[in-house]
Amino acid sequence: MVKKLDDGMSLATVYNTLEAFCGAGLAYKIAGCGGNGSTRYDAGGDDHLHLRCRKTGHIVDAPHDLGKRILEHIPQELIDELQDRIGFTVNKVQLDLVGEFNKNPCGS
Ligand SMILES: [Zn+2]
Repeated sequence: MVKKLDDGMSLATVYNTLEAFCGAGLAYKIAGCGGNGSTRYDAGGDDHLHLRCRKTGHIVDAPHDLGKRILEHIPQELIDELQDRIGFTVNKVQLDLVGEFNKNPCGS
């Protein structure tokens, strides 16, 4: 996307900017990526679900309404118990559903 706007911008500048966004809480690295050497980033918005293809590593956001409904069904008492047992404060819930796409996730 950046190349379309500024063909001269270096990849290092893109990644440095993404790291700055992460430092400011505007984006975050998606856990478990980078098997092919790449790093994936996501906007730091609402809690949402990712659908991750185990074959290709392709990641898309789940439809927001469905993701929200699934996340709402994670019992708060289990989160509370986890926090108590491990001594860990949960600030954000991320959930990746791993599988295979049966359709093109881009819809084309
Ligand atoms: Zn996402």
